[in-house]
Amino acid sequence: MRAESVETVRRILCVFPRYTSSFGTFEYAYPLMDGVQAFMPPQGLLLIAAYLPANWPVRFIDENIRPATTEDFQWAEAVFVSGMHIQRQQMNDICRRAHAFDLAVAIGGPSVSACPDYYPSFDYLHVGELGDATNDLIARLARDTSRPEQQVVLKTADRLDMTSFPLPAYELAELERYFLGSIQYSSGCPYQCEFCDIPGLYGRNPRLKSPQQITAELDKLLECGIRGSVYFVDDNFIGNRKAALDLLPHLVEWQKKTGYVLRFSCEATLNIAKRPEILAGMREAFFSTIFCGIETPDPVALKAMHKDHNMMVPIMEAIQTLNRFGMEVVSGIILGLDTDKPETGAHLLEFIDASQIPLLTINLLQALPKTPLWDRLQRENRLIEDEGRDSNVDFRLPYEDVVQTWRACMGSAYQPDKLLARYEYQIRETYPNQIRRPRTPQQSSWANIKLGLTMLRNIFWKVGVLGDYKIQFWKFALRRLARGEIEYLISSILVAHHLIKFARDASGGQTNASYYSLKLQEASVPAE
Ligand code: SF4
Repeated sequence: MRAESVETVRRILCVFPRYTSSFGTFEYAYPLMDGVQAFMPPQGLLLIAAYLPANWPVRFIDENIRPATTEDFQWAEAVFVSGMHIQRQQMNDICRRAHAFDLAVAIGGPSVSACPDYYPSFDYLHVGELGDATNDLIARLARDTSRPEQQVVLKTADRLDMTSFPLPAYELAELERYFLGSIQYSSGCPYQCEFCDIPGLYGRNPRLKSPQQITAELDKLLECGIRGSVYFVDDNFIGNRKAALDLLPHLVEWQKKTGYVLRFSCEATLNIAKRPEILAGMREAFFSTIFCGIETPDPVALKAMHKDHNMMVPIMEAIQTLNRFGMEVVSGIILGLDTDKPETGAHLLEFIDASQIPLLTINLLQALPKTPLWDRLQRENRLIEDEGRDSNVDFRLPYEDVVQTWRACMGSAYQPDKLLARYEYQIRETYPNQIRRPRTPQQSSWANIKLGLTMLRNIFWKVGVLGDYKIQFWKFALRRLARGEIEYLISSILVAHHLIKFARDASGGQTNASYYSLKLQEASVPAE
């Protein structure tokens, strides 16, 4: 559903801020692709854009693709911004630029919902999810678009049921410019890991869309130009196991109908390994990657952070189970835990070798507001507000030692030969377990062949000729070519190249050690 129509017409400019360069946004892969410039289309802002009254013209700008221009600001009567903590500086910068045109600016999304005080300059703060606060904001703008004298904070008390969510306005985004498509089926997670703000922000009882909404969204994503992969951004795909089971047959049917043109990925807790019926459905629906917050291989640390559910199946056994269902595991890892010891880094590297997981996002612990960790550290007087630091946590081990361990782990885990050996393992042990997709006209279409050839040319030239790990690359690439594994060659190298390059920046101290770090390293986007 949309907001009720109002007589007054308002032109709304939705601006999504640039990401600070990060491990998880894959920007080193973009030049190897064909016109990709950004990571994922922002669900929240496109949802709000779709919810606005039908007679309000909306313009959507993702500043990862191009900056909002003078003409955009002159066109608009009000500006909407949304984003995560990591985009805080860029969001404040958009607000400053919009104010130069005397426009009222509203901010919503996860960062402002957790930390309203990060955004003192905005005119309207939309705290919480789509609901009565959104209707209130629309009504206020319909009455008057001038900037209010004081900041207005609107908090959602009554959330819109997710089954009433409109399809996100994908038609406003240039979907072919994104590395991945995104979709959301559920929101919230029943667990309460100490460091995580999801249960506090979105609740412990997952809210759901209907399977029919999801297949309609997939149709729309395809129509609007998405290709390759779509990521379920749900906080935990099995937060409600029955709902996951209900959805999967619809996804399978959709894949059969459309010829398996998309592959899926998602985030889920590792105890999914205990649910072969869900894994079988996921395999059939062509889920090929699953992100699990393993966090640490240390059982004592898992217990301390209330993530015991990671130990329901021995970790290594769980990873192998997922691999047997054709899914490559991506793992989140946290360093700087209270239980860490000087030998934690060495244990992590042993775990990476043993698990053969190619991609691990290794972060320093950061205390987020609205988490049990934040409350505990506040009680213990161990929160440090210092924007020059990579974490706001006063670690048990010396800060420099923790950061050094992080750098050393990044440097070692992503050495080209080690990383490509882990991909070699996946090609041998995981990918062959994926569902055999029927050949479709789409796969052998000229557009698809041209896309593959463009990526191969970019990879051979930029990595094989100009790159600085040529020997390891060609060893890996020639084996793929000899076996006709062109698709594996492209998909592995796209990701591996980003990881190798980013890890080098990281071990050289040129990037933040925490995805959530407030250490601001990226220049803001200049106004035209
Ligand atoms: S399982 Fe994941 S989403 Fe749920 S509380 Fe833990 S870290 Fe957060």
